[in-house]
Amino acid sequence: MHDILIIGGGMAGLTAGIYARRAGLDVLLFEKMFAGGQIATTYSVENYPGFDEPITGAELAMKIENHARKFGLEILYDEVIGLKLDHKTKKAITENKEYEAKAVILAMGAQPKTLGLSKEDTFRGRGVSYCATCDGAFYRGKRVAVVGGGDTAVEDALFLAQYVSKVYLIHRRNELRAYKLLQRKVLENKKIEIFWNSVVNEIIGETEVTGVRVSDIQSGQSNIIDVDGVFVAIGIQPNSSLVTESLVTDEAGFVIADECMRTSLSGVFVAGDLRKKPMWQIITAASDGAIATLAAQRYIIEEYE
Ligand code: NAP
Repeated sequence: MHDILIIGGGMAGLTAGIYARRAGLDVLLFEKMFAGGQIATTYSVENYPGFDEPITGAELAMKIENHARKFGLEILYDEVIGLKLDHKTKKAITENKEYEAKAVILAMGAQPKTLGLSKEDTFRGRGVSYCATCDGAFYRGKRVAVVGGGDTAVEDALFLAQYVSKVYLIHRRNELRAYKLLQRKVLENKKIEIFWNSVVNEIIGETEVTGVRVSDIQSGQSNIIDVDGVFVAIGIQPNSSLVTESLVTDEAGFVIADECMRTSLSGVFVAGDLRKKPMWQIITAASDGAIATLAAQRYIIEEYE
């Protein structure tokens, strides 16, 4: 039996792993795709202390993974398809094996929300994207729309403006949510045109995206804008399907925990974007990971030693 199983290898999970290995704990981290989570698809990180020059998300993700490996963190690239958390021994189930531990840290993170439009899924990967850094280069010289007004949408618009001929940023209010420095950059960028108080209510195209229908929510008027790509950046939804039945979550499915990252089940901790909190950032994911490990370590001492 391991001391701790960590589910998810983004910033929260990797930080939890670093802290656990430094404390001499027997820990195993599961990652179903690639380490780094959402950081790995972030174009540029400017607000992580210690990096006084912008660093790409992919580079930062690699550094954190290397850091964790230096402390001997074992990362298993396998998908956890089930969790049994309600007994003292916690279990994580993959397709071929069951793993046991004294405590579990959930760090499955979050993923982009969808608009829920009829052609959105059909054109996913053929004009509809949720990751500008992954797909932006395919749109060199073309026209694209970005939907949203938060940090992700504004960063995506700025990133895409490097490649494309025109970016239409479509936002449902008359004010951006993104932080001020980014807002200034986007407002100053000649390639970016903002549609305020506007929503996309149709993705247009036969075999690929050729445009979007945009409606002004104040006047009710709608127009078709010709674009080759639509980048949806309207927020995140938690990857909590494995735990919504067993743990207390909010309405959106974010796991509720106390300040020590303790969830509603003893021996089960949560860290990062999966947790309900006021600010989902790389720095808060790292902080959560460190606190979750400390709390898990205390729990193991109290319950097992
Ligand atoms: P977000 O902050 O929740 O912003 C989502 C944006 O999409 C908002 O502008 C929202 O409009 C809009 N929106 C939501 N649902 C919509 C819908 N159905 N149709 C049209 N528009 C919709 O999400 P995010 O930008 O992905 O950021 C998520 C978290 O990651 C935030 O905590 C953010 O600070 C963080 N993040 C940080 C960085 C960074 O620090 N460099 C970079 C990326 C993300 P309203 O404004 O009207 O609500």
